[in-house]
Amino acid sequence: MRFDLISIFPNFFASVFEYGILNRARTSGLVDIATHDLRAFTQDRHRTVDDRPFGGGEGMVLKLGPIYDAVSSLNIPHKQQRDPQRETVILLSAQGRPFTQKVAQELAKKERVVLICGRYEGVDERVSELLCDQELSIGDYVLSGGELAAAVIVDAVVRLLPGALGHPDSSRFESFGAHDVAEDVSGGPPRTTHGSGGILDYPHYTRPAEFEGRVVPEVLQGGNHDAIRLWRRKMALRKTLENRPDLIEKVELSEQDRRLLREIEAELRRGSGEPA
Ligand code: SAM
Repeated sequence: MRFDLISIFPNFFASVFEYGILNRARTSGLVDIATHDLRAFTQDRHRTVDDRPFGGGEGMVLKLGPIYDAVSSLNIPHKQQRDPQRETVILLSAQGRPFTQKVAQELAKKERVVLICGRYEGVDERVSELLCDQELSIGDYVLSGGELAAAVIVDAVVRLLPGALGHPDSSRFESFGAHDVAEDVSGGPPRTTHGSGGILDYPHYTRPAEFEGRVVPEVLQGGNHDAIRLWRRKMALRKTLENRPDLIEKVELSEQDRRLLREIEAELRRGSGEPA
């Protein structure tokens, strides 16, 4: 897989991809990440990439011309000729559709992804119309530029590439995991993470078992795998209910999930900070 990142600050990415999973994926040849300096595609001696907005108003707007030339230099088919299974050109924008784990999974299947980073007040709208297949937003807030958003997308996508993670199943069994693994019914020791099925991950603990009076839940210190599995599922549901109730409404819940949710709601009504 190859990413091309177009930015007026290509050095921004100099060290971002040099750590952990991303670094391993790059050095093992699983992914190629190329950065392109937008100013290299300007024609004037000031290397101008922006201009004042038509209609007036605050700030400057990134011009179409340099971005057009930058994308043309990448040897990627024109918008109408692209194979959507293989390649996509994306504009990072606060006005884009939300970037989610599902979108990351879609992108991980492509051979090439081009990410165009905006700056200033934004980008001439014709960049999106003429060059881009989609606009993506990484959240409901406004960043100063698309570079952080591009880095977020690259990270989330690369860890989904087969071979990027130590265990091939790891990315299936975490927050927002696939909907077909709502419960890990495989038996045996519980996995590091198991079967989120579209909700959030459960809490993790490691040694020491006690720190400043906070004790690791007893069930995790015993060897009862079924009890551990049930506790983890309950805690995942509880965390999701507390932090992201919208997700609970979207996922398919088992009878056991519904029973656990009733227990959690009762606990929360009683105001008990600790699960029973
Ligand atoms: N005027 C724009 C608006 O109100 O939507 C904000 C422009 S922002 C200051 C500059 C650039 O940062 C955008 O062109 C985009 O590339 C990037 N950006 C800002 N927020 C973003 C977000 N939530 N997701 C992705 N990119 C974002």
